Amino acid sequence: MNWKLFPKVELHLHLEGAADPAFIRQLASEKSINISSIFDENGAYKFDGFNAFLDIYEIATQALKSPEDFKRLMQSVLENLAEHNVVYAETFISPDFCGGRDLGAWREYLMAMQEAHVEGVTLKGIVTCIRHLGPEIARGAALCAAETAGDWVVGFGMAGAENVGNAKDFSYAFDMAREAGLRLTSHAGEWCGAESVWETLKDLRVERIGHGVHSINDKELVEYLAEMEIALEVNPGSNVALGVYPSWRDHPIQRLRDAGVKVTVSTDDPPFFNTTMTREFEELEYAFGWGIEDFKLLNKTALDVAFCDVATKEIITKRLEAS
Ligand SMILES: [Zn+2]
Repeated sequence: MNWKLFPKVELHLHLEGAADPAFIRQLASEKSINISSIFDENGAYKFDGFNAFLDIYEIATQALKSPEDFKRLMQSVLENLAEHNVVYAETFISPDFCGGRDLGAWREYLMAMQEAHVEGVTLKGIVTCIRHLGPEIARGAALCAAETAGDWVVGFGMAGAENVGNAKDFSYAFDMAREAGLRLTSHAGEWCGAESVWETLKDLRVERIGHGVHSINDKELVEYLAEMEIALEVNPGSNVALGVYPSWRDHPIQRLRDAGVKVTVSTDDPPFFNTTMTREFEELEYAFGWGIEDFKLLNKTALDVAFCDVATKEIITKRLEAS
């Protein structure tokens, strides 16, 4: 089946990680920045392993320097989402890359990003701190999030290297965001084990987990996730590309779903992992035989656990049903 036209909902997408290499090359050349080392001979991003991925990710963001750059990035990302019929998306945006956590600058970046528009795609922002920059810097990101919480900034989360520090080091940042009315998610259980998911749930009190795939190794945790209706933002293509699992068939998404865990599917950093939402659907069909009813359920689950308000969910539900 050709899944490109099938409507989709995506919840785990890093804005800078969604930047096409050609777009980043163009911006870098306009600014005379030499970042050619991060591309291979075909112009794709080049890296080997997760740490190298984090390194080139940060180099790529050096080309993104102004609110105007982020507006262009957002426009390009919205166009890519529309191409794959993603009707609703939540993207991770980081004050660390947008004005270095200066609140005034952050507001300008946010305003610029919201000027981007593509008909048929609704997008909301989840402000994200970066774990390996440490708790102090995370507080600065949380303050930016709290001060701009509203209709567009709907959540707060944490990305970056999972194995740095303890979840509880970041509880102050998450408390600040929660008090501002933001919904919470955090990466865990991608590189570290099930205990990192337990820790994140206990210390950060999040309602969704980014990745969380290693939960599968802890029966009690799987039962807890199912019972508490904590959703996982699963990114199978990312996991296979980075070697978290050797192949799609080895990926635990099916087993998690069968155990009653709310699973959603996203692309994480699509051009870095040579994926798109359409490709995720194709691979899920190929590996596990998922069909129309499975993908309808996937959309419904994703919309249920999305961080937008009820009125937006009603609009998106109608759009999903009309497609
Ligand atoms: Zn991610």
